[in-house]
Amino acid sequence: MDWARTRGCFEEASKVIVEAKGKIVKDEEDKIRKIIEKFESKSNQINQQIKTLQTSLEKLDSDMRPRIKHQNECLAKAKSELDSVKMESLKFKLAEICTLTVEKSIQTENNDFECPICNEIPDEYYCCDKCANWVCQKCKNKIDKCPFCNQNLIELPLRRNKALERLININR
Ligand SMILES: [Zn+2]
Ligand SMILES: [Zn+2]
Repeated sequence: MDWARTRGCFEEASKVIVEAKGKIVKDEEDKIRKIIEKFESKSNQINQQIKTLQTSLEKLDSDMRPRIKHQNECLAKAKSELDSVKMESLKFKLAEICTLTVEKSIQTENNDFECPICNEIPDEYYCCDKCANWVCQKCKNKIDKCPFCNQNLIELPLRRNKALERLININR
């Protein structure tokens, strides 16, 4: 046995193994580093996309807010206009009924356009908003209920009907 030679061989082999191990470790490290780098760049990309989305969401929100507010205001306005139109047309209809009743009285040459309470022909006609019957200006101040339909006139006062007065004056 040549111990010196054997030892030399052994040392040589050990050196080769250490080098090989080192290379393997380095290769693995490189692989892992590459994976980490890739992951980091992907994560940065995603973060950037999230930021962009957030910015556009914020912009959309600030753009939409005044528009929604404006639309709600328009809706409320339209609703109140519709309500007042409905109310006006109702008033107009009642005045029309009142006027038609007088027209009929005139056509039949009846004295039905006298005040039903004092039987005088009034200068001013005050109509009930509920039943469209009328009284004169003097009697209006003496009643707190409509003599025809019992409507409380404090809650719903009689209203002067000038169209009716004109019509009666023309036909007098
Ligand atoms: Zn009267
Ligand atoms: Zn009435």
